[in-house]
Amino acid sequence: MKKTLFKNAQIMSVNEEVGDLEDADILIVGSRIDQIGPGLKDSEAEVIDAKGMLIMPGMADTHTHLWQTLFKGRAADAWGMEYFTNIPPMSRHFTADDVYAAIYSGAVESMANGVTTIFDYHTCIHAPEYADATVQAFKDSGIRATFGYDLGAFSLGESDKIGPSEARFPDVERLRGTIPNGDEDLLRLAVCLSQILPDTIERMEREIRFAREIDVPMTWHNNKPGEIEAINRSGLLGTDILPAHSNYTTDEDLRLLGSIGGCLTSQTEAETYAGRRSMTMIKRGHNQGVDIALGTDVPNIINLGVMPQMRILYILQRFMDGIEERHEGHPFARRPGVPTFAPRDIVKFATANGGKALGIGDTVGQIAPGYQADLVLIDGRDFGISEGDPAGHIVLNSSAAEVDSVMVAGEFRKRDRKMVGIETGKVVKLREAARDRVYASVGTRPGELKRTYWNWAED
Ligand SMILES: [Zn+2]
Repeated sequence: MKKTLFKNAQIMSVNEEVGDLEDADILIVGSRIDQIGPGLKDSEAEVIDAKGMLIMPGMADTHTHLWQTLFKGRAADAWGMEYFTNIPPMSRHFTADDVYAAIYSGAVESMANGVTTIFDYHTCIHAPEYADATVQAFKDSGIRATFGYDLGAFSLGESDKIGPSEARFPDVERLRGTIPNGDEDLLRLAVCLSQILPDTIERMEREIRFAREIDVPMTWHNNKPGEIEAINRSGLLGTDILPAHSNYTTDEDLRLLGSIGGCLTSQTEAETYAGRRSMTMIKRGHNQGVDIALGTDVPNIINLGVMPQMRILYILQRFMDGIEERHEGHPFARRPGVPTFAPRDIVKFATANGGKALGIGDTVGQIAPGYQADLVLIDGRDFGISEGDPAGHIVLNSSAAEVDSVMVAGEFRKRDRKMVGIETGKVVKLREAARDRVYASVGTRPGELKRTYWNWAED
């Protein structure tokens, strides 16, 4: 079995038993981490000098829509609901090849930025071949992916050849037959539930029961208050359902989620960009024992990396903590519980909580013996790793430019700042050719933004 031995690294394991280590080694055997500690030796291993490197677990992007990777930069200055007039309707013009180009190039870019695990909330499946193209793109990329098959199909319109909700069950079952969903498998399958509304509770129940019958995890766009309460009233709340966004969750939603040891995934940058969304659910959820995970959501305007998400969440929460303290008349001084988070909490959100949110927390998201060898090497050889807590470096002082190497399941996907086995120039061409094909079908061109205003009064 292939072995790799990293020597003399600084390690932030995000594992309670292993902790942080200075000048230590990691032995990888096959796809797993075998040993961690100083002075490791193995005559069969490829030895890599990691002096000056900070090794952390690979990061998890737990909510994104990778098909939108084609439109990098489109709608950059969209305001209000202009995103919805400019981006989701594009999906109607995709071929299966365009889906392949978007997913593949998005997965590669994510890995380059230190993402080893990704959840793709896939809202661009018109026919079975679109799902097959997605599976192929993930396999070709080498990333650890959960393919979230959307049951809602709300933006596909007449181009959808399958139909929504139950009409999609047979294709999901077909895929499930080829995707075993093992904890250590690089590709896993999930379903994304249709919107949950007071008059669609029966549909929600059918979809959840279906997902459980075929044993796949679930997620949904948790955009209204009381949805978690509604799932609970149906007796179906479980940690296999991951709420995404959750900006408008009630305290009771979050209490219920915390009581089962649940997670939520926050797309902090996308939500802050969109505006008019409450962000209090992060602190309220955290105080109820909900584990927070992170996602990028909309690759058309968000860099496919989790490092920016960490920084924005950390700074935004500090900002809100400060405002709250001032409103409440507290002096500008540290009080117990304030600020809400330390950098260390935020690194956990991006790593261990990401694994947990996707149901693979026992094998992914930490550096410990038996875990999958999903690692990021942050290069401090040029400018140095910050003093003190390495989490401070990761959250505040570092950037994706320092991501030197990325390993997924024991295989290098990036090494010495170059992608392994992937010509990135070809990836750009693939992405841009697909984009131009879609734009020709739509009748638009790069950089064009429709300033159509959504009726915000009804939002
Ligand atoms: Zn989303």
